[in-house]
Amino acid sequence: MSDSTALAARFALLSLAVAVAVLALKGLAAWLTGSVALSADAVESLVNVVTAIVAFIAVRLAARPADAALPYGYGKAEYFSAVIIGVFIALAAIVIFYQAWEGLTSPHAFKADPVGIGVSVAATILNGVWAWLLLRTGKAAHSAALVADSRHLFSDVASTGAVIIGILLAIATGYARLDALLAGFVAVAILWSGWQVIRQSVIGLMDVAVDAHTMTSIREIIAANAEGAIEAHDIRTRQSGRHTFIEFHLVVAGAMSVEDAHAICDRIEAKLREAVGHAQVTIHVEPENKAKHSGIVVV
Ligand code: ZN
Ligand code: ZN
Repeated sequence: MSDSTALAARFALLSLAVAVAVLALKGLAAWLTGSVALSADAVESLVNVVTAIVAFIAVRLAARPADAALPYGYGKAEYFSAVIIGVFIALAAIVIFYQAWEGLTSPHAFKADPVGIGVSVAATILNGVWAWLLLRTGKAAHSAALVADSRHLFSDVASTGAVIIGILLAIATGYARLDALLAGFVAVAILWSGWQVIRQSVIGLMDVAVDAHTMTSIREIIAANAEGAIEAHDIRTRQSGRHTFIEFHLVVAGAMSVEDAHAICDRIEAKLREAVGHAQVTIHVEPENKAKHSGIVVV
């Protein structure tokens, strides 16, 4: 396991522990108050627990080295985990919408239990502190996954905050239907976060290219290390989890020996692997009459 993979695996495990603790607290708050909105908020936490379990398994699986059965590696395991999460999120939202509908059509007063509301506030503070730690570590380690996790948790903190304020309003005004309306609001928030997860994974499964900044540095590395070659063209990249696949054509003099052309390829491959983490490079060598004159000129 590389350092970043070990870090991701450790944080995935800690996230799971925090999610279980928050779920227990929110479940307690819902049970003490009998509030539909707080029970919707607890279901949201249940989604986080399942997400953390699936993410933990996926991160470990994605870290496996390539083998005979999967010669391109296990990188896409991370995207599949999101499909499971997406299905679970949809189920959670349906359950909450149903509860909210029941609460609207036959409203029942919930208990204004100060202990229950206090427990919910404590769970939110725990979530907020953990989200802040994830954001700080993720930014320091340049981990997109950890930063994304922290953003999701911050949105949870915001929606729970809105629910708690709404419940205090319902207690102050005596308008019991507000509780069910808030539950509906939580369901919409859950659907929204689920959509974000699925969108990111579909982009990943579609073999998306590297970003423009990485592409520029790939071009610069090829230009600076292809001495002896004439040009490079038809560069294509695709990402698969933490792996980046890079392929292109390299034009050399037709009379150049295979040995010399191979030495150029090896030199470029080594430099690309240094610059782009987990890069897998494939180079197709061509004689000069294949030059396109629109490709990268070797410097
Ligand atoms: Zn070509
Ligand atoms: Zn070789």
